Amino acid sequence: MGGFFGVVSKESCVDDLFYGTDYHSHLGTHRGGLATFAEDHFFRFIHNIENAQFRSKFENDVVHLRGRLGIGCISDTDDQPLIISSHLGRYAIVTVGKINNLNHLVQQAFQTQHTHFSEMSDGTINPTELIATLISRGKTFVEGIQLAQTAINGSCSILILTKDGIWAARDRFGRTPVLLGFKDGAWCATMETCALPNLGFFSQYELGPGEIAFITAEGMEQKCKPTDTLRICAFLYIYYGYPASEYEGINVEWSRNRCGAALARNDEVEVDMISGIPDSGSAHAIGYANESKRPLTRPFVKYTPTWPRSFMPQQQTTRDLVARMKLIPIRTLIEGKRLLFCEDSIVRGTQLRETIKRLYEYGAMEVHMRPACPPLVYSCPFLNFSRSKSELDLAARRAIYELTGQHELDFTPYTDHQTDEYKAMVDRIRLHLNLSTLRYQKLADMIDAISLPKEKICTYCWDGQG
Ligand code: SF4
Repeated sequence: MGGFFGVVSKESCVDDLFYGTDYHSHLGTHRGGLATFAEDHFFRFIHNIENAQFRSKFENDVVHLRGRLGIGCISDTDDQPLIISSHLGRYAIVTVGKINNLNHLVQQAFQTQHTHFSEMSDGTINPTELIATLISRGKTFVEGIQLAQTAINGSCSILILTKDGIWAARDRFGRTPVLLGFKDGAWCATMETCALPNLGFFSQYELGPGEIAFITAEGMEQKCKPTDTLRICAFLYIYYGYPASEYEGINVEWSRNRCGAALARNDEVEVDMISGIPDSGSAHAIGYANESKRPLTRPFVKYTPTWPRSFMPQQQTTRDLVARMKLIPIRTLIEGKRLLFCEDSIVRGTQLRETIKRLYEYGAMEVHMRPACPPLVYSCPFLNFSRSKSELDLAARRAIYELTGQHELDFTPYTDHQTDEYKAMVDRIRLHLNLSTLRYQKLADMIDAISLPKEKICTYCWDGQG
């Protein structure tokens, strides 16, 4: 995934930029970057944040940044912001999204424009550089951004820093949010509204699908109207959005509480206590416990002083070790108990299996799991969403393969909770995880908890409809 933040102020923007970008740290684990403009000059820093928090990597740079305008990003893929010289002028750019036809567009640019791209260390082309190249084909920024949005298969939200202000553009189908905030003497653009209150900003406006705006310290100007076709990513509400944020006017924590409550309404299992797998299962568990009127406890606590969520090593074995070290079991709350856990989702299930094993080792009598969304059958083709990178790794797809011996088939029956195929798949996952019971959220209940109309939400991960 990734996230970005931009600010234009009458005073120095540096502190707001630093903290505003930091509030997007939960969206990516690979690279962080900041750029400001002052004295006819771009200032820029980019760091690897795989093994350290954004703030610790950038706090020594902040004193060297100057200016009233700046953009920053947390990226799961490429080095950003890029600084571009073009016929549109000089600008810095950050993007969030995924370009499925990147190779095709690069080859097209080679043939029609005889241009070139710099390679990243892994030999691939930086997608943000490709977006900048597409934008430069336009006579204006608006035309260029629209050309880029139309050319790419996938999605792309963009911030462009110029000497006069910041262009903010939301992806064509609004899969990722882009919101504008205001305070006396400054405007900002953000993907997470949780960045606003502690910096004194008020949420002012949410860009619609494909909408383009230009912000200065004086205000915002709409440069391209939104379309009617909104497909905001449902996973923002279920898992990766920050609980204090709102998109389309709907708070994340509130919708997670509603998810948990819906799970409880469909349940009749007798248990001693309700818990969430920390951290993202916690809000769902609160909703479940309140609805079922059963006690909410924390049989696992997370060692937060040194294991922040943003620390995400690339090696799977190290990731598994980190997942284990982070969660500390409490025997008093586990031994002899019938436990029901809420979890945001089950992706591969490998770490969850290990967590469940530990519960039994600590004397749990029963372990019941209630994921807040339906089984993940498809991986995300629209965002660089690391949770579902490889389809064949998904717990649901592995179960389907075990049941059918096929990787390619019509998956529709497995997306309908009433079919025998769905029930067999869920039971196979339950056996694999060694759970007493496993009951997934129904798609309709998840949509109802988010409380946007189905046609405005991307649910591709679950039913292939995006
Ligand atoms: S496919 Fe899944 S992760 Fe991707 S945008 Fe749609 S709901 Fe979100």
